Amino acid sequence: MKSSKPLRAFWQAGIDLILTPTCFSCGERLDRARDVLCRHCMEKAIPLDDNSCPRCHTLMEAGKCPECDSGEISYDFAHSAWIFQGPIKDVIHYFKYNAYSSLSAWLGEAMYRAYQEEDALHNCDVITPVPLYFTRKKERGYNQSELLARCLSKKSAIPYCRLLKRTRHTASQTLLSKAEREHNLDGAFALRGKQEVSGKRILLIDDVFTTGTTANQIAILLKKHGAREVNIFTAARAA
Ligand SMILES: [Zn+2]
Ligand SMILES: [Zn+2]
Repeated sequence: MKSSKPLRAFWQAGIDLILTPTCFSCGERLDRARDVLCRHCMEKAIPLDDNSCPRCHTLMEAGKCPECDSGEISYDFAHSAWIFQGPIKDVIHYFKYNAYSSLSAWLGEAMYRAYQEEDALHNCDVITPVPLYFTRKKERGYNQSELLARCLSKKSAIPYCRLLKRTRHTASQTLLSKAEREHNLDGAFALRGKQEVSGKRILLIDDVFTTGTTANQIAILLKKHGAREVNIFTAARAA
């Protein structure tokens, strides 16, 4: 049987990972095949800043959080393992666009370490990923957020459930203004089937937190259906 393109890319990525253990950022040879970054690049990976807002982790301005003060945030708490820059940006790029789905284990492990240190995330009832539109998922071969969510669920023992679906294709949020970003996601998410979210504390997982618009739109939807709490947790957060 002829294997599909994503499947071939997946196996190739696995073989590359085993045969040539090199740093995903600088290309230096690694001491151990299970490492992803060399010691040098690992030192350049920046954990989320302690001086950021304790609720949404936006950088504070004169002791105040511009996001929380705007009163427009619908999620309860946002956290990430790292700042999205340098070697971490390289790893996530490989994970997302170069078929290295196997990197989910390494990223999930780092997220679990950050999770352990953040009490606000501990009492969630269910872990759920930000969904991809089905054509995008088919093209990529996997949903990167789903892999991270499953990994974290296994480690934290919080049950995993795909609560959401994306109802249409949406353009990338990165180059849009705030108003355009919100409009771009209008009605783009819905609950899958008859998923029960009423009264639940939900931990929403994504790879990168960029502007918070996606998290916010999903939080509005989940809260409309009675969710008690919506927390967002990502591998990295835009600097
Ligand atoms: Zn390196
Ligand atoms: Zn804040």
